[in-house]
Amino acid sequence: MKEKILEMENYAQENNVPIVEKKTIAFLMKYIKEHNVKNILEIGSAIGYSAILMASSKEDVMVTTIERDETRYMECLKNVKKCEMDKKINVVFQDALDVNLSEEIQYDLIFIDAAKAQNIKFFEKYKYFLKDTGTIITDNLKFHGYVGKSKNIESKNLKSLVTKIEDYITYLQENPEFETKFYDIGDGISVSVRKNEK
Ligand code: SAH
Ligand code: MG
Repeated sequence: MKEKILEMENYAQENNVPIVEKKTIAFLMKYIKEHNVKNILEIGSAIGYSAILMASSKEDVMVTTIERDETRYMECLKNVKKCEMDKKINVVFQDALDVNLSEEIQYDLIFIDAAKAQNIKFFEKYKYFLKDTGTIITDNLKFHGYVGKSKNIESKNLKSLVTKIEDYITYLQENPEFETKFYDIGDGISVSVRKNEK
């Protein structure tokens, strides 16, 4: 297993696949154990690195992960097989904004790690699949240090992307339904839990 994880890290580096940073996956694995997370939904599988590690963090964890890129999806399937995680990980090959998930499954944890400009859309769509006590964690909120500095970015595409991440942060801060904490871990993450008003 350890060797296979290393192989995936090397593959990611060689092929420019933006897998989660080590400190971030460590945070996620700890979170899963401490909060007795069982059902996880991941938006953005890439090659399956984070899905496999999350699934391996505890015996009774099930992961559904969504990927729209065919090459990465195929690589993800291959890695899930190699790591003998086929029973714990379900890989869905589709754009997450088009997926129709079964409404029967409610997730303890949703990990948003896909197209950074779509974070609000993912959040709005998938919050309905989150348990009342569930958590939504989003990756790359610093976006390599650009977030908070969008005004000084010259490249149009990058500026637009970073502005959207800044908008997502504001959206989380002002969200009446969720309480969000931001952590300076890896490339920056948010942890959003539903407010329990009684
Ligand atoms: N979670 C992975 C890394 C994901 S990288 C890990 O840490 O190991 C982000 C991935 O999201 C890319 O592979 C990209 O193809 C995918 N993606 C982006 N937008 C998507 C969408 N709308 N639906 C499904 N996948 C998407
Ligand atoms: Mg990421």
